[in-house]
Amino acid sequence: MKIKNVKVYGADHQFCEGEIGICGERIASAASEEEIFDGEGCYAIPGLVDIHFHGCVGHDFCDGTEESIQALADYELSCGVTTITPATMTLDEETLQKVCRAAAQHKNEKGAELVGINMEGPFISKAKKGAQNEAFVHRPDAAMFHRLNQASGGMIRQVALAPEEDGALEFIRGVKDSTVVSVAHTTSDYDTAMKAFEEGASHVTHLYNAMPPYSHRAPGVIGAAADSPHVYVELICDGVHIHPAAVRTTFKIFSDERICMISDSMEATGMQDGEYALGGQAVFKKGNRATLKDGTIAGSATNLMDCVRVAVKEMGIPLESAVRCAAENPAKSIGLFEEYGSLEDGKYANVVLLDQNLEIKAIFYKGKLIDR
Ligand SMILES: [Zn+2]
Repeated sequence: MKIKNVKVYGADHQFCEGEIGICGERIASAASEEEIFDGEGCYAIPGLVDIHFHGCVGHDFCDGTEESIQALADYELSCGVTTITPATMTLDEETLQKVCRAAAQHKNEKGAELVGINMEGPFISKAKKGAQNEAFVHRPDAAMFHRLNQASGGMIRQVALAPEEDGALEFIRGVKDSTVVSVAHTTSDYDTAMKAFEEGASHVTHLYNAMPPYSHRAPGVIGAAADSPHVYVELICDGVHIHPAAVRTTFKIFSDERICMISDSMEATGMQDGEYALGGQAVFKKGNRATLKDGTIAGSATNLMDCVRVAVKEMGIPLESAVRCAAENPAKSIGLFEEYGSLEDGKYANVVLLDQNLEIKAIFYKGKLIDR
């Protein structure tokens, strides 16, 4: 089939009037024209890839149940997020085992595709725990990582690490061939972060949040990431976590080649204001703010497609850049770009049509038009 009359997001990160061919589950420019879908002039972008979120619609990935995973997958797909690696919280190993086993058993029969797990904690710093539960913070432990990764059937695509903790460098050496190591929830200075990046860490979890700020004599993790060209940085563009000017500055420092937009959404996302939970702690949602009782920001209440809209409409980020940061870069950062994250021939036909107002007009998941 062909999707005609669309502005296609190309491999050159520009929109160009054209069409998209789909053959079975894949993009194929030589597809037959027996079936035509009129895109009515919409933008055609790749399905978004959220590599860091915890929950939505009243469910959390750490519930460790098929029901919750399916609820996450259904909601994300309905928002144009076709590919997901939800995140665990800092919890005890037994609970994490349960979450990993539930993910391994999920069959991906409907909803967004679960392609991995983002293990956020427990190998973090108590001093920068954010909304993570201090009681379960654990020293970096490669053996524990491998036990959990085995329980998940090798699905852990990313693991968070505070590189200043004892044993952090050995941890990186012990796991870097199995997963992406992300500097996270840390008090690390510039030199310590540089060592981690030289040792093989290649990612930073929600840049700015849960780490020392950038300053002229102490550039910290942010300065070290800027100096390490292989490193991707996550950015939460929900309008709550980071000031719009800081978002624009970050695009100037890292360019749209190295930023991964994430939602970091928690279970109140897609729900009314009220009291919810994250990692066993009470969280209060008001509008798009989610906070612990003491006011600490506790994840976001905004899905990734809404983050794209906020970045473009309220922060002045070009749509071309936002799409690159919410689809291509996240797929690249966790090693999945061969099949996901762009609209090139041979990839899964995950295509979202957006009108001029960036509202969703149609979603194709692996070549099939989704009933919304
Ligand atoms: Zn998170």
